[in-house]
Amino acid sequence: MDIQGTSIIGFRSASASGNSSKAIDPSSGQPIEPPFFNVDASAVDEAANLAHDAFLEYSRKNGAERAAFLREIASQIEALGDPLVERAMKETGLPEMRIKGETARTTGQLRLFASLAEEGSWCQARIDTAIPDRAPLPKPDIRSMLRPLGPVAVFAASNFPLAFSTAGGDTASALAAGCPVIVKAHSSHPGTAELIARAVQNAARETGMPDGVFSLLFGSGREVGSALVSHPRIKAVGFTGSTGGGTALMKLAAERPEPIPVYAEMGSVNPVVLLPKAVEANGDSIAAGLHGSATLGVGQFCTNPGLVFIRKDESGDALIKAFVEKMSETAAQVMLNPTIRKAYDEGVQRLAVNEQVDSLVVNDSAAESSACLGATAVFEADAATLLEDKSLSHEIFGPGTTIIRWQSKEELVAAIESLDGQLTGTIHESDTDLEDFADTLPVLERKVGRLIYNGFPTGVEVCHSMVHGGPFPATSDGRSTSVGTHAISRFARLVAFQDTPSAVLPDELKDGNPLGIHRLEDGAFVNGGT
Ligand code: NAP
Repeated sequence: MDIQGTSIIGFRSASASGNSSKAIDPSSGQPIEPPFFNVDASAVDEAANLAHDAFLEYSRKNGAERAAFLREIASQIEALGDPLVERAMKETGLPEMRIKGETARTTGQLRLFASLAEEGSWCQARIDTAIPDRAPLPKPDIRSMLRPLGPVAVFAASNFPLAFSTAGGDTASALAAGCPVIVKAHSSHPGTAELIARAVQNAARETGMPDGVFSLLFGSGREVGSALVSHPRIKAVGFTGSTGGGTALMKLAAERPEPIPVYAEMGSVNPVVLLPKAVEANGDSIAAGLHGSATLGVGQFCTNPGLVFIRKDESGDALIKAFVEKMSETAAQVMLNPTIRKAYDEGVQRLAVNEQVDSLVVNDSAAESSACLGATAVFEADAATLLEDKSLSHEIFGPGTTIIRWQSKEELVAAIESLDGQLTGTIHESDTDLEDFADTLPVLERKVGRLIYNGFPTGVEVCHSMVHGGPFPATSDGRSTSVGTHAISRFARLVAFQDTPSAVLPDELKDGNPLGIHRLEDGAFVNGGT
């Protein structure tokens, strides 16, 4: 499949005219052909109106029909084969194994949401049947379920060119809920985005979906992205990226005449709390695991362990020594793009010049090289310094870790309490640690979306129970997740139907449970009627 450099609006390609830009190969700093043409406001308007028209038809497709569409997208992506892998590698600097793994994760996610849509219970159907002769007033028949919101704008992530991008988790969950999707492509991997978008377009045609159920737009966030979020036909937003970008979109969405929800997954330092007996018993293996997690994907994961709490004692010193040795020996690796490399270098420099912070590792990041190389960095500071200087807990996106040394249980609890909302929190414990430090757990739980015991935060399993969310500013809405099947509920709202004739009720709410789904009927859960 040739890459044309044009946006996709429903079943047509936008014109190859106007301003354009090229992807950059981060391993060389050189541009990659072809140019990608930015769309203007009229194309945003066209895609949004088409998505609205498509919504009227797509929202009435049943779960089996949506499932067929999602499964066909997965098959079409698989059919892209090596050219997809080669293009994604060239645009992102990520190795073949990672791109192949991410492709499998993307198609796996699409199939998981297909099964969810087909099975149908996700819609939380509830039925309270009428009691016409109830005194003093009759009780009406009330039935409710989750219904799709409308067209969703998805901002593709730079650090997951497949699994959090064009046909990634936000798109899969919105389509499964019954919402058309318009993706704002990430400028870091436009060719990958176009290949995937054409696979989605083919799948829509093959499975008889309405024109406009999916579009992909090239252009800058401040122009195309903002125009999308402001468009009256758009009813929700999915975003993965920086705190600045996510909060700008939250503000824009809240200021619309009709405010809409923004599900933004933003920065996180993912605190790792190492309790003393675990450090004493497993110091070397924790140091090795921490090194693997901190450097995985050149640290460009939203779950990267950026802040590690270690007691000031001999065992803590030994663990830090082992970790520092591994981090110093790790060669600089290619980061995703020049902007991310620059932001990483600035973050490292900010801590390197902070007189309250010790620089344990500041490797030469080859800033003069034309390749986007990111080198490891390790800093150390006291818990008291963290309490005074909040900037120590700001995300440095890349292979940099800050160690916080604490001396008492009270100091550890205060330091955790001082943190903002996070995607994850990790505890390493052994023997009586959990009893000795019982106060730390409830504080950590209040701060995070996912608690990990004796593990590491990178590696987010895609499954029904996963929560990849967390209180603000980790995400814009701490009640949501962007990974796992709970993600579907972000793009749906509850609708109640009162005394509604069966013929016009959605199948999920009809008498006799024709879809055989899990429902709450007059207060009792029913596991399917067919
Ligand atoms: P980003 O700068 O937030 O960009 C993400 C998307 O949002 C892009 O499409 C961008 O458009 C758009 N955008 C950004 N600011 C906007 C605004 N004010 N109005 C409208 N649209 C806007 O994120 P990034 O490019 O992926 O990476 C930059 C930094 O974000 C990294 O250095 C890192 O600190 C952080 N990051 C964090 C995570 C995480 O999960 N924690 C993941 C990725 C990145 P353009 O095409 O104009 O750029």
